[in-house]
Amino acid sequence: MGQASVVAIDGPAGSGKSTLGRALAARLGYLYFDTGVLYRAVTWLALQTGVDPADEGAVVALVERARPDVSRATRKDGRLYTVTIDGRDVTWDIRELAVDASVSVVSAHARLRQALLGVQRAIAARGRVVLVGRDIGTVVAPEADVKIYLDASPAVRAERRYRELLARGVITSLAEVQAEMRRRDEIDSGRAAAPLAPAPDAIVISSDCLSVDQEVKAVAELVTNRPGRDC
Ligand code: C5P
Repeated sequence: MGQASVVAIDGPAGSGKSTLGRALAARLGYLYFDTGVLYRAVTWLALQTGVDPADEGAVVALVERARPDVSRATRKDGRLYTVTIDGRDVTWDIRELAVDASVSVVSAHARLRQALLGVQRAIAARGRVVLVGRDIGTVVAPEADVKIYLDASPAVRAERRYRELLARGVITSLAEVQAEMRRRDEIDSGRAAAPLAPAPDAIVISSDCLSVDQEVKAVAELVTNRPGRDC
């Protein structure tokens, strides 16, 4: 039995992917990479510069000029990493509701996804990494050693996301969060380019009735005891 070196975690918004990914990476001593920040940073820049999120050509032109970058945390304000685009620190800006509302429209553009693929694959190629997103097991790292598709019921996902926003001081309502999430899920799952879906060889886990500790323990076991790797 050998240890897996690329772990892919996909799933819809609010399923707990980031929490699981972070905790798993910390436990294994792996790098944690949340690919959603790339799409969020491009969306933020589009909104900031008056580019229509639905205009594929204009969005791709933006990213050709300004690539989003993720680096080690540059401030001690609760962040795990620093996200920049066009030289600006957007680590917290990309979590705003305006970005949530447009990010799925932006990420549905096939040419944008293509433009952001290289950086994600380069990170996967380094190994000892936990990648979190929507298409990691299907497109970014189809050779990942362990693929998890983390799901949860819509009610649980919306409640989690609502609490997260409240904790950050964002004013919204549970109904608004629910509606927004439903819309994002529909676009992410229905798009032609790399739709959200479990890879055929993914292990599907529902986080509804599991604690984070239970999830981390279960997935860490899959990673450390992957059968058939050392033959
Ligand atoms: O995971 P997070 O909610 O931050 O992702 C924001 C959005 O980015 C998703 O709703 C999806 O539209 C897009 N995304 C994607 N592919 C990924 C990661 C995120 O399309 N691998």
